[in-house]
This record gives sequence, structure tokens and C-alpha cells, in this order.
Amino acid sequence: MPLAFDNAFARLGEGFFTRVTPTPLLNPSLGLKSPDAAALIGLDLQHPDTLALMGGQVMPVGSDPLAQVYAGHQFGGFSPRLGDGRGLLIGEVAGWDLHLKGAGKTPYSRFGDGRAVVRSTVREFIASEYLAAVGVPTTRAAVMAVSDTPVQRERVEKGASLLRLARTHLRFGHFEYFKTQGKTAELAALVDHALARFDLAPGDSPALALFRHALHSNAALVAQWQGLGFCHGVMNTDNTSIVGDTIDFGPFGFMDAHDAEHVCNHSDHQGRYRFENQPGVMKWNLACLAEALVPLAGIEPLRMALDEFDEAFRTAYRDVLHRRLGPVSDGLMLGWLALLETGADHTLAYRYQAEYRGRKDGHYERLVSLFDTKHREGLDRWLARLADEVPDFDARASALVATNPRRVPRNWICQRIIDWAEAGDWASAQAACDALFAPFDKADPQWDQPPPESLRHLAVSCSS
Ligand code: AMP
Ligand code: MG
Repeated sequence: MPLAFDNAFARLGEGFFTRVTPTPLLNPSLGLKSPDAAALIGLDLQHPDTLALMGGQVMPVGSDPLAQVYAGHQFGGFSPRLGDGRGLLIGEVAGWDLHLKGAGKTPYSRFGDGRAVVRSTVREFIASEYLAAVGVPTTRAAVMAVSDTPVQRERVEKGASLLRLARTHLRFGHFEYFKTQGKTAELAALVDHALARFDLAPGDSPALALFRHALHSNAALVAQWQGLGFCHGVMNTDNTSIVGDTIDFGPFGFMDAHDAEHVCNHSDHQGRYRFENQPGVMKWNLACLAEALVPLAGIEPLRMALDEFDEAFRTAYRDVLHRRLGPVSDGLMLGWLALLETGADHTLAYRYQAEYRGRKDGHYERLVSLFDTKHREGLDRWLARLADEVPDFDARASALVATNPRRVPRNWICQRIIDWAEAGDWASAQAACDALFAPFDKADPQWDQPPPESLRHLAVSCSS
């Protein structure tokens, strides 16, 4: 069935984008696929039209490919004009933006080649579909393709493309762009467009309504990241979604050993986007968004709304911890966070405490093995207090194994999948992805592990 396009963003008019057609890839073929994401828009992954779309050869009937213009604060500094440098909004289907990443140069490519390579595309595919699987708001990845187009990075790599689906591609940077251009009418049109798309009541001040939605959804999002040990890596305002979805996966990382100071992006020399900074950075980004909306909503209402962030984050993080630990007291919750800070494996520590049923069946030994012996006493004290609060460990465990994943896309796992993808072994790559995307199901000794020593310090840096 053909895709039913309704391109509301394109109807905003020329000032918001430049129409661009993709530059075709040579000899494309499909790689990783997500039938769940494809189903959201009724995309037939087997149909030849899907391959033609992924290769940038033939755009679907009803699409209207364009590159959006936006600005953004990158590592704290303002870039007045960024935009889609290597991806195109193809159109909107069933409330989803279709975005073809790696589609060639656009007027916003600056010094870039407009391309994406296999490793970055595979990483985005994995992270987006994994986050969706564990219930964290995110853009989706329906399918990726690989080609014979040579792309120069440190070495020559194969050009790849990804079909990203998003509830919207509007970033904080869109609003910053029109504010700094002094284009208040366009700014207001963008606010109205976003509110209509999300069926949000405009109230007395549409810009304030949108801001508060962005604030609360992004506070909840970053709380989920903290619970999962997810580091975004490049939390620039052009990579921050107006509706609180995780967007733009580059050098992201799921932590192995818990480390509040973990920096997943090797290009982030100051550690601006280190794990513990993510909530504060989100608030900083929201302050940028507030500033962009001042011409529409006035300073004071936005300042008051921004003050809601700390409480919104705290409440959301508490909710996340209650889902991971059960309805424990604040004392136990804080005690758990202190235990994690000792450097236990983030994912396994959560999972093993969820499975813990007292000192039988090896549960205690497995949990205790994650902690250095000098923290064993602390863990024992915590478990004793937990036993005081929990009437029935079996009931607790059966609830909590559904909220504490066995595995996350650790860098070493992503790298294995990339190696298979680059070698053209899509069956192995897809099987590993499928195991990752069912992280609550049966144990899988191959993937439910911390990194092997040799893969402990894989380096990942900015856009590729
Ligand atoms: P990022 O922080 O990776 O989301 O990218 C920041 C900006 O650089 C965006 O405007 C991207 O479109 C652009 N960009 C990243 N990689 C490329 C590339 N290979 N070619 C053109 N533009 C790019
Ligand atoms: Mg970006």
C-alpha cells in the first residue's frame, strides 16, 4: 500500500526549509530492519519502492523532500545557522516524520559530505530501537541501507542511510534560529504548528504552553536516561527535541560500571555532557529555548516556568527509581544510589537486585559479586533494610524483572554488530539486535555481560 503523506511542515513555506532531492547511493541494499517501527507508518520492507527510497533513487509519491533550517548551542557556543546537513525530511505519514539520513549534501552541509557510514547508522539503529523497547521516548529507526558509495572518514567507508521516524524533528534550535533572525511571525507559526501537531491546548499564551510541554517532557526523559545509565553524548540544543524524545544518536553510551563522571564522547574534552551533568544541561538547554520564546511569551512567565524544572526532574527520577526498585522508602533509594556509586555494573546491579529473593538460589552471590569486597558490608546492610520493607520477595521479583532489563547496547555489543554489518553478515547482526530489543525475556549469556577486558575502553567521538 502506498504511504499516505500529509506534509504539514512543508506547508509552513519556504522560509523554514530548502527543498532538496537526495543524491542517490550506488548499488544500495537493505541492512538492519525494524518491523515494529516500519509498521508505525505501514512501510512494506520487502517492497522494491522501500529500497528505492533508502537509496535515494525514487522518492515516494506524495513525499516532499526538504532540509530544515535551524540553529543551536553546540558545547555552549551558539551556531546561528545549522540545519539538516545530511538528512532530509521526506514527508509525514500517520503522525510520523520520515527522515532519510545520509541522503547527500544540502545547503546546510557546511564542510560535510552529507553522508553517513555503516557504523554510525548501525549505532543509531540499535539505540533508537532499544530505547523504544524499554519504553524511553525516542525517535525510531525503521530500516537502514548500505551501498557502494565510498565515503571518506579516517579510512574510506561505505555510505549508508537510515530511515528515521520521529513524532517531530523540531528541535530547540529551530526556535533559536527564528528568534535570532528577528522573525517573530515565523516563530509564532512554528509554535502553532507544534501545538497543532501534538494536540496541545494553546491557552492564553501558545509559546508558554509549548515551553511547559517541552520542559516537563524533557525532564521526564532525562530522568529515564539517568535510570538506565544512558549518556546522550551531544546534548546540544540542536539535538534536543521539542517533545522530549531522544534524538540524534552519535557518540552515545550505555554505562558499564556506574560512574557519575562518565563521558561517553571522546570529543567532549571538558566533560560538559558527562553523565551526572545531563539533568543540569537539559535545564540549560531549556533556558535557551525560553530565551528564544521571549518575543512571544515575555520574560517573566518563561522564567517562572523554567523554575519548575528541578521539581519536575526530581519527581520523574523518583518515579523511575520506584519502577526499578519497587515502592521503597527514600532512605533505601538513596542507599541504593550510593551503592551504585561504588562502581558496580549499572545494568547488572539493577537486574540482580530485582531478581534477589534472599540468600537462596545464588541470588545473593550474583549480586555481591558486582561489588568490591570493601563495599560488601554496605550491601549487606542495604539488603537487610530491604528485607524489612519487602513482605514478599517472590512477588517483588516477578514485578521488577519486567522493569529492569538484562542487557543494554553496551559499546562492545554495538561494536560486534558493526563488525558483522561491515562484513555483510546481516543475519548475525540482526539476530543480535533482536536479542537486544527483547531485553526482559530469556537470559542470553552472550550479551548479558560486562565488556570483555579488551573491549572495555572503546572510543566513540562526534558525528560520523
Ligand atoms: P550532530 O551534532 O551530529 O547532530 O550534527 C551537527 C550538524 O552537523 C547538523 O547540522 C548536521 O546536519 C551536520 N552534519 C553532521 N555530519 C554531517 C555530514 N557528514 N555532512 C553534512 N553535515 C553534517
Ligand atoms: Mg544533530
